[in-house]
Amino acid sequence: MTWLDLPAHHPFGVHNLPYGVFSTGGADRRVGVRVGENVLDLAACAERAGMESAAVWRAGSLNPFLDLGREAWASGRTWLVEQLTNEAHRDAVQPHLLPVADVTMHLPIEVADYVDFYASEHHATNVGRMFRPDSEPLTPNWRHLPIGYHGRSGTVVVSGTDVLRPHGQRKGPTDPAPVFGPSIRLDIEAELGFVVGGGTRLGEPVALADADDHLFGVVLLNDWSARDLQAWEYVPLGPFLGKSFATSISPWVVTTDALRTARVALPGQDPEPLPYLRGEVTADGAGTAYGLDVHVEVDWNGTVVSRPEFREMYWSPAQMLAHMTVNGATLRSGDLFGSGTISGPADDTRGCFLELTWSGAQPLTLGDGSRRTFLEDGDTITLTATAPGLDGSVIGFGECVGTVRPPR
Ligand code: MN
Repeated sequence: MTWLDLPAHHPFGVHNLPYGVFSTGGADRRVGVRVGENVLDLAACAERAGMESAAVWRAGSLNPFLDLGREAWASGRTWLVEQLTNEAHRDAVQPHLLPVADVTMHLPIEVADYVDFYASEHHATNVGRMFRPDSEPLTPNWRHLPIGYHGRSGTVVVSGTDVLRPHGQRKGPTDPAPVFGPSIRLDIEAELGFVVGGGTRLGEPVALADADDHLFGVVLLNDWSARDLQAWEYVPLGPFLGKSFATSISPWVVTTDALRTARVALPGQDPEPLPYLRGEVTADGAGTAYGLDVHVEVDWNGTVVSRPEFREMYWSPAQMLAHMTVNGATLRSGDLFGSGTISGPADDTRGCFLELTWSGAQPLTLGDGSRRTFLEDGDTITLTATAPGLDGSVIGFGECVGTVRPPR
């Protein structure tokens, strides 16, 4: 129960409480928490309460708070719930609630390292069929390790930032030589992004059982992809300029604490992974290698074109984190890793247009009657998602929006 005037089961009720970074007018950026249609100015609220830790919320990113680690995140959440549910705090807290419509949202983290995985078996199989029609769709390593690549952290942008169509080289199968120009096969990838907190020392891997200590929260992530640039450049070192021009994330970081109610078992791993990736998990998702029951929607200019289900993912977030550090690579607060395109077995649960249109062969029809294969200038893509919360409630993620603009 909360003293806030909130409809029952509001997606940003007290069961959710995602963190973000906002500003008002010309004031400095600071950390806020979304509750209902408001943002709670955390630093102001904590300073009034005389909390020493208020300074971390005065920062222009979540990184200082992420540095404090799992125990501080948990006690912060307990304190917040107390502030928002105990009637005794109402008069002190209420002045620090600002309408979300009146604030500007910013990138929630200063992105340290950015990695993108490839954890959907259905996505990897479909892409393999299209890119390598004469060989097995899954590469021999795929079921043994979560495949990933290091992306470009400096071009991770917050929802609402326009995306410029990139220039680059492409060479179609029948072209005699490569040509240079704006991408003509601009695509999206609907993913979840995982925000990492708490640094590690060089040479010290994070065991699967300890991954939760570093998994702070989840954002929606759109890994914009220029398929024509990607197809020509990706052999043998993987994605490069076809993806590094922009990656959009939603402004609200939904905590893994809030998402405990969304844990589910993975669909199943065969063969059994090597011991460092092996986690026990029960049917209700307890254990180390759990999946998440997050329902994603992909909206193209107002038409929902796909509903990917994150629970179909083959590799779990904790397995991805354990794999990413098993060679001794460090973690830093503000690290971000993407799950890879979320695609399920059904046609209308595929998370990118390469798959949804089968490489452009089967156009989609939008609500205005227009037919689309890849993105045109002016197109707007909106990712949204929900997950099951406490006592039948729903956890909202907000939106990850981007509009394509012509190249400069
Ligand atoms: Mn991706």
